[in-house]
Amino acid sequence: MPRPGEKAPGSWRGFPSVPGKKKRITLIDTGIWAKKAADEAAKYAEVNIAASSKDKAYTYIPDAPAPGPDDAYYHITWNNTIVGTKWPAIPDTGTVPLVTDLSSAILSEPLDVSRFALIYAGAQKNLGPAGTTVVIIREDLLGKAPGWVPAMLRYDIHDKEGSMYNTPPCYGIYVIGLVLQWLKDLGGAEFIAKINREKAALIYDYLESSKAFYSPVDKNCRSLMNIPFVPRENNADRKAEIEKRFVAEAAAAGLVNLAGHRLVGGMRASIYNAMPVEGVKALIAFMENFEKTL
Ligand SMILES: *Cc1c(COP(=O)(O)O)cnc(C)c1O
Repeated sequence: MPRPGEKAPGSWRGFPSVPGKKKRITLIDTGIWAKKAADEAAKYAEVNIAASSKDKAYTYIPDAPAPGPDDAYYHITWNNTIVGTKWPAIPDTGTVPLVTDLSSAILSEPLDVSRFALIYAGAQKNLGPAGTTVVIIREDLLGKAPGWVPAMLRYDIHDKEGSMYNTPPCYGIYVIGLVLQWLKDLGGAEFIAKINREKAALIYDYLESSKAFYSPVDKNCRSLMNIPFVPRENNADRKAEIEKRFVAEAAAAGLVNLAGHRLVGGMRASIYNAMPVEGVKALIAFMENFEKTL
């Protein structure tokens, strides 16, 4: 910290504010989590946002342009939790390492992990309690971090120490173990994918036929996990009133957490692995009844 009266430099005690030579990464902007990844990466690298779906409120996944040949990596957010989009296919980035945030879709369906150089996912959606993060990294990328990277952020150190470089969140990991055993006994990702597709199809099909609500998301990139829906009402006041009443009456009926993310409003059904088909059917029955009151 600069002493009082000292000019605040762009660096701290001689360390450059951005260590090392700036490499370029390419990132596709598909919403808030992509933006956060871009903002963090910009502290260390030049960030090339090659495509964005911001023009339509992130309701679609843009075509993925090819990376630059020297890009350090190419980043996508596989499932966009808040807006309810999912990549329809894994983009081909050639020899440039593909990195993804898989937080809200990990183990929701089979995914060709070998196509990714690095996958990271917070545990709290499909795996277990908050506080644990899963990282799957291609072995040849270990140990490539520059020397100035703090030890806690170096995957080679975590790897060498068997993920116990620091005291790990033991309880969270224990619960994740139970969840993984549950999933394995059920039939694994293949099996849960069938249930997840059935759950999502029930809601999307209902929304197609509903006179009261619709899905704002492009059909070819709809999430299996997060399904936003909005009233067909055009009048803003009336729309807001419907949303408020819907969320309150649903909660009173035992259907909770249906408000859309505070950044986008509307409603959203998050139907992670732990949500049974019965829960989805109860939601649809509630929506059908609600429609009649409009
Ligand atoms: C939930 C989520 C995160 C992490 O959320 P935190 O609350 O910051 O732990 C990151 N990315 C995506 C896509 C998510 O859905």
